[in-house]
Amino acid sequence: MDIQAIRREFPILAREMNGHALAYLDSAATTQKPRAVIAALSRYYEESNANIHRGVYRLSEEATRAYEDARGKVASFLGAPSPSAVVFVRNATEGVNLVAHGWGDRNVRAGDQILVTRMEHHANLVPWHLLARRTGAVIREIPITDDGRLDLAAFEALLSPRVKLVAVTHVSNVLGTINPVARIVASARAVGAAVLIDGAQAAPHLPIDLAVLDPDFYVVSAHKMLGPTGMGALVVRTSRYDEMDPFLGGGEMIRDVELDASTYADPPARYEAGTPDIGGAVAFGAAIDWLAALGMANVAERDRAVGTYAHARLSRLAGLRILGPGPGPDWAGSLVSFTLDAAHPHDIAQELDARGIAVRAGHHCCQPLMKRFGLAATTRASFSVHTTEAEIDRLVDALEGVVRKYAPRVGAGVGAGVGTGTGTGTGTGTGTGSGTGAGTGLGEDLGDDGLMREVVMDHYLHPAGREPVDGAQVEWSGKNPLCGDEVTLRLRLEGERIAGIQVLGHGCSISVASGSMLAVRLKGRTLPEARALLAGTKAMLRGEPLPAGLDLGDVEVLQGVRDLPVRVKCALLPWTTLEESLAHGETQGGHP
Ligand code: PLP
Repeated sequence: MDIQAIRREFPILAREMNGHALAYLDSAATTQKPRAVIAALSRYYEESNANIHRGVYRLSEEATRAYEDARGKVASFLGAPSPSAVVFVRNATEGVNLVAHGWGDRNVRAGDQILVTRMEHHANLVPWHLLARRTGAVIREIPITDDGRLDLAAFEALLSPRVKLVAVTHVSNVLGTINPVARIVASARAVGAAVLIDGAQAAPHLPIDLAVLDPDFYVVSAHKMLGPTGMGALVVRTSRYDEMDPFLGGGEMIRDVELDASTYADPPARYEAGTPDIGGAVAFGAAIDWLAALGMANVAERDRAVGTYAHARLSRLAGLRILGPGPGPDWAGSLVSFTLDAAHPHDIAQELDARGIAVRAGHHCCQPLMKRFGLAATTRASFSVHTTEAEIDRLVDALEGVVRKYAPRVGAGVGAGVGTGTGTGTGTGTGTGSGTGAGTGLGEDLGDDGLMREVVMDHYLHPAGREPVDGAQVEWSGKNPLCGDEVTLRLRLEGERIAGIQVLGHGCSISVASGSMLAVRLKGRTLPEARALLAGTKAMLRGEPLPAGLDLGDVEVLQGVRDLPVRVKCALLPWTTLEESLAHGETQGGHP
């Protein structure tokens, strides 16, 4: 594959970010779009736009044909038995929900079992939680091994006639593991269970032949396959259609409607209520044409080459640990998730962003998987056909810079590990050591917000408020589930005055620094003053003007994160914890 020629097809790759060429390493979240897809979308609206199926005029017929052609392309790309097996949905998430309602509500009963794996995206967990709640079914776990593979022996042992459904991802969006779905389908079928496969991370990277895999349901998202957002597909084993009820009701999905009853169109129309995203389907078809022209075997080989290169280079970095099985036949190579001892994933992502590199940091909608590895968050670099080895080199160089800058905190409990105890009155007990040593690399070129970063790093490396407070009457913990950051506040009140304050916990530089600033600002203040500082900080982070006369001190530098909603949550954590503790005190009558 001529990667440079491929790159020229993606207009967005010509962009600069923070003064650097954009290195987009977040294709597992959503892919960038080649010109052919963008052109197909605008050509549809410029030349063919009309509502489909019902129009008795040529333009509508043209639009209908384009929409149905796209269905045919999805079917042949995935090896579906026929175009009518393909239901267009908004995304993989909607596909799973359609099955949970359309099939699950009719076929799953109290006491039935739904098997899910610990590496599922929330999209392939929460709909089953809801179904279990509606029906009284039971969710059971297919465990995974330490190297991020499914424990197949445990899976086989779980199978019984009580299992109604097995829901499993084809490729993990955190580990890159390719699960043996053909074997899973065969074993599940032997006990009469249906199988839903989440193909969101597989279809963009592997040749898929559903005729061979033969699952009951397979879901994909167009936006992860170089196509548009708001479009996806559910492929249904056609015999399962007979066991399903409509999910949404309305136009398009009916045959005949009386005032008090209706009959339904044949599938797939039965499951496509209302006007669909016609342009999105057309553009999805164009994305599929584009991938098919590259050849999915070639795409898979290229992913493996880039992934293997990234894996090798990253694993040589001291203090960096990669999750998942790594290079081998059951690894897609399309992504690498890792932790770095020196820094929190949010800090890593922001530092990389300052160098034009886009990666994802957080739990990746896989909280049960994170818990399995005792983590709250990782950093994930994920690849597409335009990814180059030079971009991986930039990633590694930038990470070396992060290590130099954040290394002084190593050992001071700043990792993204899961602490214990949120809620009332529980100490965290982790990450309470104070940072030592001066930060190296603080003078590095960090972009325009140098002052903020310097102040933040100073608080982060030498946080205030860590000293124990004797006789604290108030103790409250808060947690940011996005990244696992935790804060525990302990306050000693003398009447209305905060005589002592201790801020414990662990997290990224922003949340630790924000907690340190809070400690400095609140000590010795009265509760009304604390409430005013709290209101001012929240207003500032919402982009509102500060109340006249309010001096937030160092806290003011945190307005540098205002445009980054994820980081706003980090900055707010100590303050929302304070707010909750004050509100709790009021309701309990414990403090004013
Ligand atoms: N399944 C997996 C494995 C994913 O990685 C994702 C998205 O990241 C989804 C499902 C949900 O995709 P969507 O948000 O497009 O519905």
